[in-house]
Amino acid sequence: MLGRDKVCAECRLACLTRRSAHDYRRRMFRRGSGPCLCARINGSMMPGTKKSLRRRFSGVHRRLRGAKEVVRALLSTDHPLLAHIIPIRRCNLACKYCNEFDDRSKAVPSAEMFRRVDKLAELGTAVITISGGEPLLHPDLDLIIRRIRHQGVITGLITNGYLLTAERIQRLNKAGLEWLQISIDNVMPDEISKKSLKVLDRKLELLAEHAYFHVNINSVVGGGVKNPQDALVIGRRAVELGFSSTVGIIHDGGGQLQPLNEEERQVYQAMKSLEKRSFTRINQFQENIARGRPNDWKCRAGARYLYICEDGLVHYCSQQRGYPAIPLENYTIDHIRREYVTEKSCAPHCTVSCVHQVSIFDRWRAPQRRAPTAAGGLVEID
Ligand code: SF4
Ligand code: SF4
Repeated sequence: MLGRDKVCAECRLACLTRRSAHDYRRRMFRRGSGPCLCARINGSMMPGTKKSLRRRFSGVHRRLRGAKEVVRALLSTDHPLLAHIIPIRRCNLACKYCNEFDDRSKAVPSAEMFRRVDKLAELGTAVITISGGEPLLHPDLDLIIRRIRHQGVITGLITNGYLLTAERIQRLNKAGLEWLQISIDNVMPDEISKKSLKVLDRKLELLAEHAYFHVNINSVVGGGVKNPQDALVIGRRAVELGFSSTVGIIHDGGGQLQPLNEEERQVYQAMKSLEKRSFTRINQFQENIARGRPNDWKCRAGARYLYICEDGLVHYCSQQRGYPAIPLENYTIDHIRREYVTEKSCAPHCTVSCVHQVSIFDRWRAPQRRAPTAAGGLVEID
């Protein structure tokens, strides 16, 4: 039997945040006796209930940490809100539209990845997302995730999902992963993409069964996807399994935007209605792209968003590798302040929604000016 003082922080938080069990646990705390919720979890509680509680606790914890970062973002412009890091450029697939992979690169040594994570934490980065290539090919991915969590940074992973197994998902749980995204391009695999629901549906079921972290399934329209209706099938399946669902407008292999036709636009609108459970619901950005309109926004890449390639260089984003291309170890608050006010000529037709989302925090803040170094050098997106 455990007294009130021995009730763990996890159970106290659950008591404060979960209405359904609130009264029961409050009685436990008042009495000063009875099993702590943890004891129940580790003892007689049914496995399904334990899993459900772990998920709820992880969700509450994730939302509280997210809220704290939102406040910090509003109070200061001197730190990155999101960084993508690439532990390996190699991928086990070869999607035709993709310009972010190769078939031969070695994994970045773990010690180097730890240094990069530590440096991003030192810069005050709120969220680090591990991307690729295919990050599950990195032999020490779990250690990298642990390092990010150890630094107090919110941790995400973007994967094609092919290498997920029940055991691999449980290792990601243990490492402390907080959210994971899989992009599924079609229902049946074709010559453009093998990231199909047919192949990945079993992986989604495994995630629904084992993952404690948040899962988002992204589907795409445009860019040569043969059947636009596939995005809806994928989105509905994601929601059915309890995941959030988002839709992206795909760019082609040259980073160029393909305008949506009428059917694609209709699917896109239907998909947006499935997005109500997602943090991307504020995304007016893609609405304009879907209609072929330019966006009027200030891209804060290089400041609020950093893309760290496998060589450890900071770039604006995956589509503008080459600027500013400064080694992360030399990146300072002066670079952040300079890039914060640097206008990017590619902004009006940009499709990189994650950069737009983090830039929303500073929408009404400092005006930007064109930098001489970047002028004329960026890939223009028409
Ligand atoms: S889109 Fe993802 S899965 Fe496809 S080739 Fe690129 S990195 Fe690999
Ligand atoms: S506007 Fe888009 S493409 Fe250009 S630097 Fe910003 S995120 Fe990258």
